[in-house]
Parts: sequence; C-alpha cells; structure tokens
Amino acid sequence: MRDAACDTGVIIADAVALAELPGGTGHERVRIDWLHKRLAAAPGSRHVDGVGNLVWTFGPPPYRLAVLAHVDDVFGEQTARGVIRRDGWLCGPGIGDNAIAVATAVAVIERALAGPAEKPLAVVFTVGEEGLGGLRGARHACRELVPEAVLALEGHGSDRVFTDAVGSLRVRLTVTGPGGHSWWDRGRPSAVHELVRLLTGMIASVPAPLSVNVGLVDGGTGVNAIAARASATVEWRATDQAALDRQEAALDELATEVSPGLRLEAERLDRRPAGSVPLTHPLVAAVLRARRAVGLPDATGDGSTDANAALAAGIPAVALGCCVGEDMHAPTERIRADSIAAGAGQLQAVLAEILD
Ligand SMILES: [Zn+2]
Repeated sequence: MRDAACDTGVIIADAVALAELPGGTGHERVRIDWLHKRLAAAPGSRHVDGVGNLVWTFGPPPYRLAVLAHVDDVFGEQTARGVIRRDGWLCGPGIGDNAIAVATAVAVIERALAGPAEKPLAVVFTVGEEGLGGLRGARHACRELVPEAVLALEGHGSDRVFTDAVGSLRVRLTVTGPGGHSWWDRGRPSAVHELVRLLTGMIASVPAPLSVNVGLVDGGTGVNAIAARASATVEWRATDQAALDRQEAALDELATEVSPGLRLEAERLDRRPAGSVPLTHPLVAAVLRARRAVGLPDATGDGSTDANAALAAGIPAVALGCCVGEDMHAPTERIRADSIAAGAGQLQAVLAEILD
C-alpha cells in the first residue's frame, strides 16, 4: 500500500463540490452520479446497487472490510447550498456531515489502492443515513456484502472513535376525537389536550437510560374549535437496545390509557438499532494503533451512524470522524481545514492495518 500523504486540496475541492449539490435524504442520486463520474478512472470496479448506493470493490468477496460513507445530509431543497472559506474554516450546510468524509474516502482509497493487486475491501457510498432514511443504504450493503468488519466514516468527530452505537425509536403519535365548538360543545374530549397530557407524562418520566425528544407537534384547526386531531413525533434514544425495546412495548399500553371518546395511534417511523463493539476487539485495536500513528487520541465515544446497521447485522463496526467540526446539522455547519490531513492519514493507516 502506498504511503504518500493525500493532497488535502483535492479532498477539499471534492467535499465542496459534493456539499454544493442537492443531497437531502431520499434525494441522493445527483451525488451518487457525481461520484460515479469522479471515480471513472479510479482503480477497482463500481456499480449502483438496488437501493441506490454506489459500491466500489477491489476484488471478489469475501470482504475483510467495508468502508461506509453516507452521501445524504439533513438539508432539504429549501436550504441554500454553498461553502465558504473563512479564518481556517470551511463553512456550509453538509460540508462536515458528510461531504468531507466522502471526499476523504475517495482520495485515500483512490491513492492507497492504486496498484493492480486485489484487496478484500468494499467501499460503499450509502443513501438514507440521516433523518427517516432508516439506514436503508447501510442495511442493504451489510446484507449484500457481508463484510467481516465495517468502518463508518463521518465528517465531524476525529477526536474519538465511536465504538457504541446510539439506537433510536421514532414514532408519530396521533390523537383523534369528535372535535366541536369550544363553548357549545364544552366538555367534549380534545385531541390537543389529550396529546399534551400524554407528552407531559412521557417527558416527566422518561425511564433511564433513555432520552426523549418531542421534535414536532401539530394539530387543531382554530382557537375556538375543540381539536379533532393532534399529533407529535417523538424520538427515544439509548445505547441499550433492551431499553428501546421496552419503550416500544410500552407504546401499545399507551393506546389503552387514552381518555374515553378519543383514539391514539402510534405509528413507528424508524428504528435505529443500538449496539457496541468491545474495546478488546481486533478492529478497535487496529483503529487505535492507526490513530496513534497519526497523533489522534485514544478516546472512545458513542454516535448514531451507518455502524448501527452493521452492529445490528452482527458485524463488528466502529465509526470514525474525519476532521474537527462544529454546528453539525445547522446551516452554519463548519469544519477546520487544518484537521483534514490527520483524518485522511487515519483512514490510510487503518486500511494498512487491516488490509496489508
Ligand atoms: Zn453523518
């Protein structure tokens, strides 16, 4: 494997080009097409799989390692895209999560595997990692490729290795009832009042180790109408899958606790499995050796990434950040330009540890 350091100028140019293309979850096609063209002269072979991932392989299966980097981001069509460079930072929606990780994978792997020798490596640029994408791309890739280990690349967070996968359960709760006039029908049950009561209880008594977030609420038709409908999207997170399973089971009981005259529907929007890889696993040891070689710290932590899909499929996986960033998922998202080289060096060293 070649050792020469990657040109961070190329990485930055690719990351900026990607971040400026539309690529919200479910709309990844433009970026996948761009990558397909970008890699036209690269070693290995590439195809778009059944769910829209771009799969890049360096030989036939079995694969010792699959590197996953998601191409989607949280920004929809309403977001004005554009990246600016200021005071050592690259700023713009999607630059850190996850354009820089995709660009780092392209640059490192294109260079490191330039020789004719086959390597037991698959690289997958995945769809559906963010929002309600359900890790669609990563789940499909793990099923199809069955690699021995998975490395999920994220832009932000090169200060630690993500060995614990935070799982989540996302649900839309909808209360429906008869509605009516706020005065003449007073006493009738209100969907909004009931939803507020249920949410208040959930927030006040979220069982450890779960976190809860009511992210969206809507309902009712006017100030003088008893609401006939109210809904909220709720997300619970934990690194403990059993706690998430208990919460999901509790949703069925909730439907029986609703006040007379009202109905509650709990629609499961997304389940992201929790999991972890033991710190003693050879994959973690290889990653930590590689990080020491490029001066990155040994710290470990938790995250919610494509690695969740691998761990749920029984495949050991860690997620790695490629640089240092701030304001992830906000329009002011930004990354430090001088942290990109260490992220690229880290990936290069991990590949050498695992493949050579
Ligand atoms: Zn991400």
